[in-house]
Amino acid sequence: MTLTELARLEEMATEGPWTWYIHDYSMATLCADGDPIENPIMDVGPCKSCANAAKNRHEEWKWGRCLTPKENNACLIVALRNHAKALIACAEELRNIADAKRFNRDHFRDDTEFADWVKSRAIHTLRSLEEV
Ligand SMILES: [Zn+2]
Repeated sequence: MTLTELARLEEMATEGPWTWYIHDYSMATLCADGDPIENPIMDVGPCKSCANAAKNRHEEWKWGRCLTPKENNACLIVALRNHAKALIACAEELRNIADAKRFNRDHFRDDTEFADWVKSRAIHTLRSLEEV
């Protein structure tokens, strides 16, 4: 997948932030803006047999039960969606640095000025990712 394709996919997907809303022992909904009714993305839950067994044992929701995703996978879906714009911006900044006209003296007087610019861009980009 190219960066352009990834950026287009990100733009077409439901806007974030996404979260998991846990209804009860039998269902969780991945949703936008914390609203599983107005902004559902998808529901997950165990099969009827496992849901009934959990109900009879008075168990709460459990990631990884039967057909539900493992908790790490569920969290990764949310984290990737919520960081997608920042991650794409990081990749675009790497492209900007890779394409920089290092030896064109109209852009950079010398390698020190180029290195300072690269370091500055890297620090700025990392900070923007960490602020998500
Ligand atoms: Zn089951």
